[in-house]
Amino acid sequence: KSVIAIVGRPNVGKSTIFNRLVGERISIVEDTPGVTRDRIYAEAEWLTSTFNIIDTGGIEIGDEPLLVQMRAQAQVAIDEADVIVFMVNGRDGITGADEEVAKLLFKSNKPVVLAVNKVDNPEMRENIYEFYSLGFGEPFPISGTHGLGLGDLLDEVVKHFPEQIQEEIDDDTIRFSLIGRPNVGKSSLVNSLLGQERVIVSDIAGTTRDAVDTPFTKDGRDYVIIDTAGMRKRGKVYESTEKYSIMRALKAIERSDVVLTLIDADTGIQEQDKKIAGYAHEAGKAVVIVVNKWDTLDTDEKTMKEFEDKVRDNFRFLDYAPIVYLSAKTKKRIHTLLPRVLEVSENHAKRVQTNLLNEVIMDALAMNPSPSIKGQKLKIFYAAQVSVKPPSFVVFVNEPELMHFTYERFLENRIREAFGFEGTPIKIFARKR
Ligand code: GDP
Repeated sequence: KSVIAIVGRPNVGKSTIFNRLVGERISIVEDTPGVTRDRIYAEAEWLTSTFNIIDTGGIEIGDEPLLVQMRAQAQVAIDEADVIVFMVNGRDGITGADEEVAKLLFKSNKPVVLAVNKVDNPEMRENIYEFYSLGFGEPFPISGTHGLGLGDLLDEVVKHFPEQIQEEIDDDTIRFSLIGRPNVGKSSLVNSLLGQERVIVSDIAGTTRDAVDTPFTKDGRDYVIIDTAGMRKRGKVYESTEKYSIMRALKAIERSDVVLTLIDADTGIQEQDKKIAGYAHEAGKAVVIVVNKWDTLDTDEKTMKEFEDKVRDNFRFLDYAPIVYLSAKTKKRIHTLLPRVLEVSENHAKRVQTNLLNEVIMDALAMNPSPSIKGQKLKIFYAAQVSVKPPSFVVFVNEPELMHFTYERFLENRIREAFGFEGTPIKIFARKR
């Protein structure tokens, strides 16, 4: 679990912020000595991600002079924390003590996010610019007493968590799998994609014929095709059973960012297609619907639209997924596939700004207030994106039960339109504030 430390000279408001972040589980600031000590270290949540937080202001060593105290506190933060929130007071400007703390933090090489506290109203935002000179980049204005700006501050802090950075490194490679009932053309499409892109197939040990994740590069992007049921040598009796093929498909889906769910234009949509596509949706993966064997149809301008209507009608739960029509065999239109894969995978990993998100939610609420349930109306206080892959949002409300699923759907659509989340499911969680 990542650790955040809040550091700063006395009276900048560290404990107030600490309490806000830690939430109700820990009592409000009390001046009794000893109480503070218990609150030095606590688990906090930025919505669904949990981390530990240290209020170094609570660390006191005897009656040593201020400077010694501050050094000790900063040292604790430097030793213990993954990310340091350096807090200053927007009303006082930069003081000598701030500069002392800055010097210590600077030498530490730890990520530091600068928070300017006591910015209680928008006019006071003018005061934050001087803090750039401390050398820690953008200052984040916050107000501990009013609880303002904490969302954006935490968005920034979370970006520096070690596991987050790990995730971003892995993000560069787009992992996708192909699913679909037997004979829809999964292996043919893999072969066509790889053949066409003149792949660099790796010789890494362990990537044997019957269990291969195949990496390739296209237009400067790295992709990996994840091995799926039906793609590999058949013959073992159990491999032809439906359970086994579902199991293989589920495993492949789990390891993918993007799932291509294939449909056979020749035979048309079948019940099993819906079931298989449902797995991708439930796993929260980005999805592209691929209509294969497009060469078997006599196509005119209307064919695609007609087929789309059928697909939309049968796959309502995948209304966010783009549809690609192609022929694995003739390679017709096959060039349209990877750009879509890239696009949906980017949307799947997209983070939106907290302030913009709240604007969109509040506009949606104003445009279409939620209906009353048992005489009570849903109130939304605040929303934040809590994770990616798939993009997930928490909305703090007066009463979660008042969030009807149709209303949740409405909010989802508004978020989708505002930020462009084509191809990825979105999750919304209503939480009581
Ligand atoms: P899988 O079981 O999903 O891997 O399907 P295969 O790739 O083995 O393909 C099943 C059959 O469909 C094979 O006979 C392929 O030649 C044929 N096929 C695959 N793609 C196409 C296509 O785009 N057009 C046509 N006409 N046939 C295809």
